[in-house]
Amino acid sequence: MLSNQEFLRYQRQIMLPELGENGQRLLLDAKVLIVGCGGLGSAVALQLAGAGIGKLVLCDDDSVELSNLHRQLSYRESDLGQAKAKALAGQIQRLNPSISTRSVIRRMSLDLLNIEVSMADLVVDCSDNFPTRQDINKACISNQTQLVSGAAIGWDGQVAYFDGQHQSACYHCLYPFSKSNQATKCSDTGVMGPSVNMIGSLQSMLAIRAITEPETLNTGELMVFNGREMSHQKFAIEKDESCAVCSEGNNNE
Ligand SMILES: [Zn+2]
Repeated sequence: MLSNQEFLRYQRQIMLPELGENGQRLLLDAKVLIVGCGGLGSAVALQLAGAGIGKLVLCDDDSVELSNLHRQLSYRESDLGQAKAKALAGQIQRLNPSISTRSVIRRMSLDLLNIEVSMADLVVDCSDNFPTRQDINKACISNQTQLVSGAAIGWDGQVAYFDGQHQSACYHCLYPFSKSNQATKCSDTGVMGPSVNMIGSLQSMLAIRAITEPETLNTGELMVFNGREMSHQKFAIEKDESCAVCSEGNNNE
């Protein structure tokens, strides 16, 4: 049962028949791990807090810089120099004090990710580098935890959902390497704020649906957004039967 206050607060989304009171209860009971509190993570965290996801763990070892503020709209000038994971928790508390947050101000090693993922219902990958993305994927496969992956660079971005089950494709099936030949840092190539925030919104939508109606999502579906063409394409990621992470007989389980 929802309290009167909860019902009032979340009324406009409870009205959606696909969500309803049951869906809202699932959101309030959910615990989501957000790795990276930059453009994607800060957008995702506020949207999930707004929707009433009960527990959020925020991981980032960076501090807020002036060059972040054109796209990382959860932060204020007064947050400059503060740890992002802490500043973001503060914004969430001001938006929705009923949400429980925990900030992890550390580089996320595979061991630490395994611990954090084991305590989460769902992981949103908002990190900005391939090695961390691969470690997040490994931890999600080991723990059979759902993963919403996202990336944005330049004008473009992409999102993907993985159910974390051993019979399904994983992030490593899509990108079987830990380094990219292309520049993947915003500091190298530039990035358009609305593109980042749109990808963060799509990740938030996938996260809400993964918690409330996972059966309606296609695991291993990649959506690629082209911000210049204003177009998107969807691809089904094929499971790589020899994938070093998710195939049977590997050493990561
Ligand atoms: Zn795989």
